[in-house]
This record gives sequence, C-alpha cells and structure tokens, in this order.
Amino acid sequence: MAQLRPVSADLKGMRRSRFARGFLAALLMAAATLVLLLPVAAQAEGHAQVFGAQVVRTTVEDFLVPSLPRPVRVHVLPCPGDPAAQGCHSSGRSMDTIWVNPEAGGLDSETVAHEMGHVFESYMWDLRWHHVAGSAFVPRTFRRIAASLFDDPGQGILLSSAWSERFAESYSACARIPALTETLRTGYWGFEMTPEDHARICPLIDQMARHYEEATAADPSILNSVVLSQAPSP
Ligand SMILES: [Zn+2]
Repeated sequence: MAQLRPVSADLKGMRRSRFARGFLAALLMAAATLVLLLPVAAQAEGHAQVFGAQVVRTTVEDFLVPSLPRPVRVHVLPCPGDPAAQGCHSSGRSMDTIWVNPEAGGLDSETVAHEMGHVFESYMWDLRWHHVAGSAFVPRTFRRIAASLFDDPGQGILLSSAWSERFAESYSACARIPALTETLRTGYWGFEMTPEDHARICPLIDQMARHYEEATAADPSILNSVVLSQAPSP
C-alpha cells in the first residue's frame, strides 16, 4: 500500500511541471492567504459552484459530463510554483482551487476540464473518506475506470499520480468530446483513450455524479463540511 493521499495540499494535479511537494505546499499556503476570492459565482443544477472568471465558468457550464455540486475556486493566474505550467489543482479544507494560466494557454477547455477532473476525483474521495452512507461506489467505480486506462492496474493504482493524471485526462475528454472516432493520445502521463474506453468511461462519470447526488441527498453534511486533514486509504 502506498502512502496516504494528502488532502490539504494535493499537488499531484500540477500539470506539465515538477516541484518539491513541501516547497509547493508552502507556496500554495502563502498564495491562499494573498489571493482575493472573486465575488461572483455560477451554479447550475448539479454543477460546481465556480468562483472565478466568467470565461472559466462558461467553460464548466458547457461540459458534457457533470461537475459536483460543491464550490471551486478558480484563479486565472500562473501556478504558484511554476509559471510555465498551463494549470494546476490543490485540494483545500473547504474547497478545492485550480489555477489556469492564460500565458501558457491554460484557458483552453482542455486544460480547464483537466483541472476540473482533479476536482471531481478529489470531491469523490471526500465522500468516501467521510464514510457517507452509500459511498462504496467511489473506489469501486474508479477501479473500473482504471481498468480501462491501464493495461495492468495494480492494487495501489488509485493512489498513484499516473491514475489521477490519466483520470483527469479522461474527464477532460468526456467533458469536451461527445464520441471518439479514433484513439485519443495526449502524450500526458501515457494517456490513451480508445473509442471503446470513451464509451465506457464517460457514462461511469455520469453514473458517479448521480450516485454522489443520491448519497449527499441522504447526508448533505459533506456539501458544506471541512474535509479531513489526513485521509484514510481508499
Ligand atoms: Zn493534472
């Protein structure tokens, strides 16, 4: 079993960049105290409450797969630890934050959807780690998705960066592309998605969002809760 997944500063989502985790965590904490939250939110039924630039909110509202009905903070700024990265994601105690860097091309829907894929995964694990009734579908469905994304997914696959990055790429593809006619290869963390993978994974993302809404309807505390500072293993 790999080490536990940190929740408060999940930097695995840092896209096309490499940092020391501790250094980044310090930077992110500093940034979180400095950056003002834009006082504008958009919330569609079954969609994330996105705090940030209109262009990003519009992109999220146009997704072909659901986002989860929790707040997300968006900064249209370079990532705190790597100005060259297109985007990055950090899990927070009460809400996740994504950065998309327009100077690196990060405002494109591919990057926004990739980072929102990290948010989707993060909020799904919150449900599981809070032991919300009916949350057993989370690891079960993620393993089904991993079985499509990896030739030989091992026992600890869901704790790996490769999984999170390939899942985010999958979420991005499902958010933007109704159907694939040929295999999609993004070159990021070895991500490949065949038309069959797409047809299998996208409905599973839809299904997870439905199950999430059912579970939170029965126990809505998670929607406004402070996430665990240290997560148990899935
Ligand atoms: Zn990523």
